[in-house]
Amino acid sequence: MSRLILIAAMICMPVGQARAEDPFLAKRTRMIALIEQDVRDTSEYLKRSQLDNRVLEAMARVPRHEFVPTERIDQAYRNRPLPIGHGQTISQPYIVAIMTDLLELKPQHKVLEIGTGSGYQAAILAALEARVWSIEIIEPLGLQAQTRLQRLGYDAVEVRIGDGYYGWSEHAPFDAIIVTAAANHIPPPLVKQLAVGGKMIIPVGSRFSTQELILITRVSEDEVRTRQVLPVRFVPLTGGH
Ligand code: SAM
Repeated sequence: MSRLILIAAMICMPVGQARAEDPFLAKRTRMIALIEQDVRDTSEYLKRSQLDNRVLEAMARVPRHEFVPTERIDQAYRNRPLPIGHGQTISQPYIVAIMTDLLELKPQHKVLEIGTGSGYQAAILAALEARVWSIEIIEPLGLQAQTRLQRLGYDAVEVRIGDGYYGWSEHAPFDAIIVTAAANHIPPPLVKQLAVGGKMIIPVGSRFSTQELILITRVSEDEVRTRQVLPVRFVPLTGGH
């Protein structure tokens, strides 16, 4: 059985009538196929041609249509970023999938997200049984995401309004940190809050051009390793730093 059919079969398991009748199921299954195709097409950058099944299953479960503006619901399962207001975007599903995959999360891992936006990426992390702390700098977006995540039952996510550049030291160290806005350098406070063995994924580069997705691994108290993954395009990390 192919991975795609397997995932579709898992979604159709008789967990409840509502899930079996999910009107977005076919679109979500198609979105997973598009992500898998993009991963194959970029496998030389990613150094893998398949993502962890758990990540794909999480992407197949989380209702992306709940995280986009009402007028965009029909586009929710396109493999594209979409505007969410305030000049910001919900990231492309393929990008969400690869960034999540590169973190190599395990259940109960502590994850810090910078850039809550719609809350979709945080929901994917929570669907992987991570404990998530997410920071958003634009207050109305952060409050909306917090309400949405609560309504949908993602209780493992805590949202705070603020400048994520400085991290969330009260909950450090983190097993993983994901930055979903482009910084012009790797923020030292975030590196400091990464646990030994932990991974951080962040787009780095100018706000006016393509950036580079960078994977940082803390190998010891004194040493981190960095790897350039692939070129990406993100909205900028803002704030007063
Ligand atoms: N992860 C989001 C999602 O799933 O919808 C998408 C994030 S969007 C591409 C980038 C977000 O980062 C925006 O909501 C933006 O306001 C936020 N942001 C930018 N600079 C920030 C900062 N210094 N601290 C926290 N959030 C920031």
